[in-house]
Amino acid sequence: MNIIFLGPPGAGKGTQAQKICAALKIPQISTGDILRRAMKEGTETGLKAKSFIDLGQLVPDDVIIDIVKERLAMDDCKNGYILDGFPRTVPQAEALDTFATIDSVIDLEVDDQVLVDRLSGRRVCVKCGATYHLSMLNGAVSCTVCGEELIQRNDDKAETVLNRLKVYHAQTAPLIGYYEKKGLLHKVDGAQGLDNTYQAILKTLGAQA
Ligand code: ADP
Ligand code: ADP
Ligand code: ZN
Repeated sequence: MNIIFLGPPGAGKGTQAQKICAALKIPQISTGDILRRAMKEGTETGLKAKSFIDLGQLVPDDVIIDIVKERLAMDDCKNGYILDGFPRTVPQAEALDTFATIDSVIDLEVDDQVLVDRLSGRRVCVKCGATYHLSMLNGAVSCTVCGEELIQRNDDKAETVLNRLKVYHAQTAPLIGYYEKKGLLHKVDGAQGLDNTYQAILKTLGAQA
């Protein structure tokens, strides 16, 4: 099944995509992770992306569309995938329609005040990218998966968070209507606890599998 995880920054797309991908044995394609890896490696794409990401803006459509098109052509995508963080604009969704067939779009719904708390408390592992929230860490400063240091993402600082939410409402939220019209949209309450959200997504996907 080819699935899109839609939803604002901090909705839990990455957290849930990782669990659902493990359960369904399909790859998680996170454009944010791909861009952060490129930044770390200092590639041309990474350097270009950094100037946008640090301001909380979207990287240009042509850059990200090429990346996703190439990734979806790889062998491990043959039995399905979850797109986590793509598409984020209507032009990206239109481009995706030319090279992929989407079966289901999960829209994780969470209010803005909760998102601000989730994003400003998010901590990620420098090495493996595992994601935590301050409220779950009880003062721990290292990754329970690989033991490395946990950091705050640059774009999770307070100033940038508000900008990202604005960008979401202006540029990404229109995709809700885009996929509703196609009959692919499924809204899931993302403000529930981790496990209830996970079960709700599985049920939504199973109900129409
Ligand atoms: P979050 O998980 O908080 O929603 P991501 O890790 O998905 O954030 O993305 C981080 C940043 O990477 C975005 O704010 C944006 O600058 C860039 N980015 C990721 N995916 C896309 C995309 N599909 N189009 C444009 N920019 C993107
Ligand atoms: P996204 O990929 O949509 O930006 P993440 O999966 O990175 O979102 O989650 C954002 C933050 O919220 C992280 O700190 C994560 O630990 C936390 N989080 C995710 N899902 C939940 C949930 N259901 N309840 C409480 N906190 C959550
Ligand atoms: Zn780690």
